[in-house]
Amino acid sequence: MNKPAPQPRPDTCTCSRPWAELITVIEGRRLAARPAESLGPAAALYQARCASCGATYQGPWRLVPGQTRAA
Ligand SMILES: [Zn+2]
Repeated sequence: MNKPAPQPRPDTCTCSRPWAELITVIEGRRLAARPAESLGPAAALYQARCASCGATYQGPWRLVPGQTRAA
């Protein structure tokens, strides 16, 4: 039957819970991000990716608030 062939795509999260945890690296710091309905300011400059498999998240995302001053 019509069974789609599995295609390894680096931009697709292959985790059991896709995009469950996003991270971004800004100025050498690893910060948590999350999917959002619109792009946040950081999303225009940086890329978010899955914290587990490293796939680049293609949709809009924002930084999780309250962590930008964290060490
Ligand atoms: Zn993943």
